[in-house]
Formats: sequence, structure tokens, C-alpha cells
Amino acid sequence: MDVRRRQPKSPHRRRHGDDRKDLRLSAPAGAVDRRGEPPPSSSPKASDALPLPLCLTNAVFFTLFFSVAYYLLQRWRDKIRSSVPLHVVTLPEIAAIVSLIASFIYLLGFFGIGFVQSFISRASHDAWDVLDDEVAGDGYLPEDGDPRRAAIACPPPKLAEPEPIDSALSSVEDEEVVKSVADGKIPSYSLESMLGDCRRAASIRREALQRMTGRSLKGLPLDGFDYASILGQCCEMPVGYVQIPVGIAGPLLLDGLEYSVPMATTEGCLVASTNRGCKAIYASGGATSVLLRDGMTRAPVVRFGSAKRASELKFFLEDPVNFETLALVFNRSSRFARLQSIKCSIAGKNLYMRFTCSTGDAMGMNMVSKGVQNVLDFLQSDFPDMDIIGISGNFCSDKKPAAVNWIEGRGKSVVCEAIIKEEVVKKVLKTSVHSLVELNMLKNLTGSAVAGSLGGFNAHASNIVSAVFIATGQDPAQNVESSHCITMMEAVNEGKDIHISVTMPSIEVGTVGGGTQLASQSACLNLLGVKGASKESPGANARRLATIVAGAVLAGELSLMSAISAGQLVNSHMKYNRSSRDITKVGS
Ligand code: ADP
Repeated sequence: MDVRRRQPKSPHRRRHGDDRKDLRLSAPAGAVDRRGEPPPSSSPKASDALPLPLCLTNAVFFTLFFSVAYYLLQRWRDKIRSSVPLHVVTLPEIAAIVSLIASFIYLLGFFGIGFVQSFISRASHDAWDVLDDEVAGDGYLPEDGDPRRAAIACPPPKLAEPEPIDSALSSVEDEEVVKSVADGKIPSYSLESMLGDCRRAASIRREALQRMTGRSLKGLPLDGFDYASILGQCCEMPVGYVQIPVGIAGPLLLDGLEYSVPMATTEGCLVASTNRGCKAIYASGGATSVLLRDGMTRAPVVRFGSAKRASELKFFLEDPVNFETLALVFNRSSRFARLQSIKCSIAGKNLYMRFTCSTGDAMGMNMVSKGVQNVLDFLQSDFPDMDIIGISGNFCSDKKPAAVNWIEGRGKSVVCEAIIKEEVVKKVLKTSVHSLVELNMLKNLTGSAVAGSLGGFNAHASNIVSAVFIATGQDPAQNVESSHCITMMEAVNEGKDIHISVTMPSIEVGTVGGGTQLASQSACLNLLGVKGASKESPGANARRLATIVAGAVLAGELSLMSAISAGQLVNSHMKYNRSSRDITKVGS
């Protein structure tokens, strides 16, 4: 039982595992016994202070009680037989009655209180009470300090050593496996297949890791996670899971629908700020989005003996006459994969072929890779001199900033816009249309140009993209290109209102596959109404998710830009991003 997880019922009840030591009646520091030796390791008990051992005292009173009771009953029977009135008592009988009452009071005080209390406390009996019993039984004083309860445990069982805090091992057999893993006799990666129990494998790996490194993993939770759900799909060699809080921004009014947007983040202020942007959008009638393009890409690199031969393949691939055949071969990879285009680029005698395909509700990296492999196998017969260097030649381009994604798009290309009314800009965003437009021009456009930015013409699109990606089980590394965004602001309606838009050419999201099927992430997708595969139209859920990401980015841009233009950025971050807790005391 993990005693640290539970809160004490009252401030007077000290039950934390670490506090156990304080509950013991320990000998004064430096104390020695009569032989001049330190006291034995088992803690002294309250009953040690009494002249007689308590079990002996109990035995005396038990004997006294039953013997005088027997004596008085005998006397009572004799009196009835000899017709002597019962109230006429002799001196020995008076002594016997006094002894009976005294021993009764002693036994009642000793056993009766505990007995009655056990009935009273039964109604609220929980695991903590079991702990109390264990603690008392182990020779600890109960928290009320009553020595009688401690003395009941006579003789006291030997004090059990507290379990190692972070050990989750369940058996001796596990201990053997831990030793074998730590000694390198069993490979850590084989535990799941060897044991056939993912939770047990994780716990053994974790224990072995702690022993091998000498570092504690206390604080990294082990329980409360379905390790079978990640096997062969999401994470290898698990030892626990990291917890990230999920906040909600919204409602985001987008295309006439309301969304509560889940954001997993540890950055204070982010959810609050996005929420404020959502409020401004809502108060202005909502935002509108358009999905411009939907296609995942993969670009293998192949090498020929000459640039001429590489060019021949380029012309072959880009000739519309050949497209149908190539698409047929490509689309065999999945019923959802549909080849859209092949664009080539040459570097000397090396050819980079950028395949683009729709992938249904999947983000699509696996799907497109399989399709590309099909085509490469097919081409090999007509171009036997083609040397396949790699299935990915970085012209794709995955998880790296690249102009090709910024210009051509990758995944979903979305534009999202809203007109924010003048009074909303003033009341909700606490700034002015003119300040926002000016700041956008000098920061997001000119400032980013000065910085030589690639797709970074925005204030903080990646903040929102990352938080929504983590909450909904997307690949967080694809935040790189998915955050490409240009934010535009323009005064409209005779300069009173502001038109804001975000254009994001490469939002890479899916609602099936990868981390989207895990329980927490799946719950967040469900909240947005885009969980799993779309029944009506394959790909509709993933496309909707991409527009929600863009809508949330729009809200985030609006709010942060307003905070900067109003000079509030530092103040709000100090409020939400800096706890007033004294960090030197954290953990103490
Ligand atoms: P990714 O290609 O994003 O890595 P996976 O290949 O892991 O994704 O997952 C896609 C799997 O989901 C494929 O096996 C595909 O057949 C299946 N699937 C089921 N329904 C859909 C759908 N509506 N859209 C796309 N894939 C789907």
C-alpha cells in the first residue's frame, strides 16, 4: 500500500510513511543499556515503563475476576439453599465483590474501550484504519498516544522494515528477473515478449534501471497506464509515463460549431491566453476556415550513373501519361492512400521524387511510405540502374524546417480568418485595431523577415500547435512544419474592425493510428468530436482537426499580439507563469 498517496483525515492524524519514525517511542540519543551497550534496534514500548510486564498484569486481573466471580456464585447458591437473605454479606464476600468490581473496571478499561471504538470506527473503516492497526501491531504508538493500545500487542511482533518506496515488484520471481536484467543476462527489450505481461515488464525494467543507475524514478508514475496499448506501436521499453496537464480553451466558434479545445502544456498563461482569443472570436461572431489542400508526402532519393539518366526518370514520373499506372501501383498500399502528384528535383545524378497522397483520417506517414516502396519496386524493372539510396531523401520534408513544405504544403493546408469588432478589441483584448495592425506588420512580417524566418511569420503558432498535438496524440516532432504560419492583420470596415487570418500550409494531423488510439488522447479527440475514422467520409475527421488547430492558433495569435501591443506580456506571464511559491522550498 502506498501510504504517501492518501491524505490524513484530520491534521492531528499523522500517517505519512516518513512520519512513522516520529510515532515510535524511541530511546534518547546516545542511550545505553545496563551492560553499557546501545539498546536493541526494536523500539522500546510504552509498557516498558511499567513495573510488571502488561501481559502478566492482565493475567493476574483475569484470574482474579473469574475466581471471585466463581466464589460469589458459589456463595449465592449456598445462601439460596440455606434460605439466608442475599443482602447479608460477610467480610470475605465484601472483599470478593470489591475485587470483582476492581478487576472488571480494569478489564473494561483495557479491552472494552478498544472493543467499543472498533464498532464506532467500523462505519468509516478504510485502508488507513488497516494501516493504523498495522502500525499499532508493529509496536508503534497509536496517534492518540494511548499506551494501552500499544500494550495490547504483547509480545509485540518484530517491526517490519518499510518496503523500498518505489519498488513495484510483486514476487520473488520478479526479483530474480530484475537481477538478470540488471546483470545483462536478459535483454530489457525482451521483457514484454518473455513475460507476456506488459505492466509487469515495465515494473521489472524500471526496478532494474534504478538499480543499474543508482537513480530513483520516484515521481515518474508506473500504475494507471495501459502498457499493452503502446506495445509495438507507440513506445518501446517503457518504465512509466510523464503526466502533462490538459487545459481547455473555448468555446472556439469555428464554421458555426463550438469546440472546447484541449491543450496539454506546462506553460502557464498559454491556455488562459488562447481562451481569451476564443472569447474575442466568439463575441465577434466566430471564425471561418478553409482547407486548401490535403496530402502527405514522402520523397525517396535515388542515384544514377549520370545526370542524364536521372533526368529521364524525372520526365517519366512527371509525364501525365504515366500517372495512372503509377497511381495504381502506389494505391495498393492502402484503401485510403490515393496518389495525387509526383514532383521531382535533381542534384547532379541524384533524383528526389516527392510523392503526395491523401491518407484518409491517418496522418499518413506509414501509408505514403508503403506506396512509395511499391512504386520504387515497380520502377526497378524499367530503370535497373536506379540505385535506391533511401526511402526518405529529406525533400519530403519530415520534422525539419524546409521551404518545400512552406511553399508546396504538407499534410493539411488551412487558412482561417475572423473579423474582430472594434468594441471587442477594446473590451476583451484591451488594445486598439491600429496598434494590432502596426505590431503585426513590424513583428510578424518585417521582424520575421529581418530574422530570415522560414514559415515563422507569426507570434507563437507552435505554442498552440504543440499543446493540441500532445493532447490529441499527434506526433509532437511534426510541430516543426505544422507550426509554419503567416498571421495577417488588416483594418476593415473603415478602420474600425480588424480582419485577422492565419495561413498554415503544413498541418500534419490524423485521428487514427499512432498515439491517437491511446485512452487519454482518444478522450481529447472525442471531446472535439473527431475521434477515430470518419464513417461518412474517410479523412473528414482529420481535416476537421486540422481546421480546429488553425482556429486555436488564430485565437492564440489574437490574444498574444494584443497582450504585446498593450504592453501586458510581462505582467501576465509573471501572474500565470511564475508561481508565488518559494521554489527553494518546493519538495520540502
Ligand atoms: P500513419 O500512416 O499515420 O502512420 P497508420 O498506418 O499507423 O497511420 O494507421 C493507419 C491505419 O488505419 C491503416 O492501417 C488504415 O488502413 C487504418 N484506417 C482505418 N480507417 C481509416 C481511415 N478512415 N483513414 C485512414 N486510415 C484508416
